[in-house]
Amino acid sequence: MIRKKAVIIGSGIGGIACGIRLQSLGFDTTIVEKLDTPGGRALVHKAEGFVFDMGPTVLTVPHFIEELFAVEQDKAMLGEPDFPEAILDESKRIKEGISGGPSTSKYVEIRPILPFYRIYFDDGTHFDYDCDPENTRRQIAKLAPEDVEGYDRFHAAAKRIFDRGFIELGYTYFGSVATMMKVVPDLFKLNAVRSLFSFIKLYFKSDKMRRVFSYETLLIGGNPQKVPAIYAMIHFVEKTWGVHFAMGGTGKLIEGFAKKFEDLGGSILYGVEVKKINVEKINGKSTATGITLESGVVLDADVVVSNSDYANTYLRLIDAKYRKLNRDSVVKLRKQSMSLVVIYFGFTRSDNDPPLQHHNIILGPRYEELLTDIFERKILADDFSQYLHLPTITDPSLAPEGHHAAYTLIPVPNNLSKIDWQEKGDQFVDKVLASLETQGHIPDLRKRIVYQKYITPEYFENTLNAYAGNGFGVEPVLIQSAFFRPHNRSEDITNLYLVGQGTQPGGGTPSVMMSAKMTARVIAKDYKIADDIVNGVPKPEHATA
Ligand SMILES: Cc1cc2nc3c(=O)[nH]c(=O)nc-3n(C[C@H](O)[C@H](O)[C@H](O)COP(=O)(O)OP(=O)(O)OC[C@H]3O[C@@H](n4cnc5c(N)ncnc54)[C@H](O)[C@@H]3O)c2cc1C
Repeated sequence: MIRKKAVIIGSGIGGIACGIRLQSLGFDTTIVEKLDTPGGRALVHKAEGFVFDMGPTVLTVPHFIEELFAVEQDKAMLGEPDFPEAILDESKRIKEGISGGPSTSKYVEIRPILPFYRIYFDDGTHFDYDCDPENTRRQIAKLAPEDVEGYDRFHAAAKRIFDRGFIELGYTYFGSVATMMKVVPDLFKLNAVRSLFSFIKLYFKSDKMRRVFSYETLLIGGNPQKVPAIYAMIHFVEKTWGVHFAMGGTGKLIEGFAKKFEDLGGSILYGVEVKKINVEKINGKSTATGITLESGVVLDADVVVSNSDYANTYLRLIDAKYRKLNRDSVVKLRKQSMSLVVIYFGFTRSDNDPPLQHHNIILGPRYEELLTDIFERKILADDFSQYLHLPTITDPSLAPEGHHAAYTLIPVPNNLSKIDWQEKGDQFVDKVLASLETQGHIPDLRKRIVYQKYITPEYFENTLNAYAGNGFGVEPVLIQSAFFRPHNRSEDITNLYLVGQGTQPGGGTPSVMMSAKMTARVIAKDYKIADDIVNGVPKPEHATA
C-alpha cells in the first residue's frame, strides 16, 4: 500500500501537533525545520548549566496535551474525545498537585502551579490570581472593595462566553461567511464583540482590577483595548483547568511531542530551510506539489502544511502569480501582533530575597497609554511592564545548585516601528534589570547575575522568519478573528494548508493545538476521510493501494 505524503514546514507546537494528527490519519509525514531543534517559539536555550525555556511557560488546558499523546497510528482521532471525569476535574487535581493524564505521563511530567500569577502593581501591592473564587473575592475586598460585586457579575458573564465560545464553538473552523454568520447573533448577545477592556470596565471600577482581568491577552499578542471580549474566556479556561508547568521546562513537552510524532513513524529534518512551496497548474487549479529546500533539493508531497508565519508563507514562499487572495498588498495590510524583548538570566540565590512566585506580572505605572505606545504609536516608551518567569521555584534542576534560572519578558513594538535594537538593546535591558532591583523584587540583581542573554524583535524576524518580527502572528483584533483570520486551508492553492498561531483560532499553546486539529480535520475532509471522524471508525481509506 502506498501511503500519501505530507510535508510540514516548521516544527513549532502547531507543526508537530499537526504532524501527529496527519501521521495518525495515514499520511507519511515529514517535518522540515530551519533550526537545529524543535519548538519554534518554544525553543530551549542551554548555557553554563542553566536551562531556559525561550517562549511559552504557562500551560493551560492539559487535556489537549493528553489528547495529542493519546493519538494512535492509523486512527482518525479527530472527534471530541470522551475523557474520564478524573482527567477533566482539574480543580480536584490541582489541589492534589497532579495534572496531565496517563498518556502524557509516558512522555513528560506536568504539575499544576499555584497561584497562577502574582500581579505586582506600581505602588508595591500585589494580587495572587488563582482558580478559587473565594480567594479572589477576599483579595479584591482588600485591594478594591468596590469591585467585589462586579467580580461576581464578571464571573457569570465570562462563564457564558466560555460555555458558548470555547466549549461549544471552540473547534469551529470559520472557512466560509456562512459559518461566521451563524455565530454573529450569539457574539452580540454575549456582548463579546466589544473590546475586552471596555467589557472589563462594565464590571470593575478600580484601575487595579481592570488590569488584573485584562492583561492576559498580552501573553498571546493581543492588546486588551483591541481584542474582542470573547477573550474574557481566558479567565474561565484557567479557572476550569488550571495553569501548569512541564517539569524540566516546556522544552520537555516539546521533546515529548517530537518523540510521539516519531513513535508514530513521522520524521523531522532539522537545520533545513524551505525556500519555496512548489505550485503547478493542475486541471486549471494552482496546486501545491511539494517544497524546494534552500539546498535546491525538492521534496514532493500530496499535502503541504505551512507552520511558518502566515505572512512569511505567502510573501516569501509562494510565487505571487499564484496568489489571488493573499496577494502582497492584502498580506501586508494585516496588523501584526506586538513583539518582545526577552532577557534570560541566571543568578545566585539568596535567603533574603522577597517571595517571588513562579509567574510574576510586574505592571508599570501606565497601562492604557503604554499599550497605545506599543501597539499603535509603535514607540519604545521609557516605562514598561514585564512578566518575570522564575521556574527554579518549581524545578531547581533548571539551574546549577545555589542559582535561579529566570527570564523576563517585555512587550515592545514590532519591527514596523523601525527601532534600532542594535543601538538601543543593551541600554534597554540594563534598565529592565535595574528596575527589578529598585522595585525590590531581586535586590542587587546585576551583581548576582552569572549568565545573561537577550532577544529582541530581530530574533523573531530573522531567526523565526516572523514578518515584521511579530511575537504572536497577526494581531488578534476583531477584524482578524474567526473567519477574518488567515484560513487553515489556503484559499489560493489546492493541497496547501496552514497551521499555528497565525491561523484560526489564534495564538497561545492551547489554540495552536486546536489549530492543528482543525487543519487535520479539514485535510481529512478534503481527502474524504471525514466519515471516519464522524463515526469514529479508524479507517485510513485515503491510502491508495
Ligand atoms: C516569549 C514567548 C512567551 C510565550 N508564552 C506563552 C505562554 O506562557 N503560554 C502560551 O500558551 N503561549 C505562550 N506564547 C505563545 C506560544 O508560544 C505560541 O503561540 C506558539 O508556540 C506558536 O507556535 P506555532 O506552531 O504557531 O509556531 P512557531 O513556534 O512560530 O514555529 C514556527 C516554526 O517554523 C520554522 N520555520 C519558519 N520558516 C521556515 C522555513 N522557511 N523553513 C523551515 N522552517 C521554518 C521556525 O523555525 C519555527 O520553528 C509565548 C510566545 C513567546 C514568543
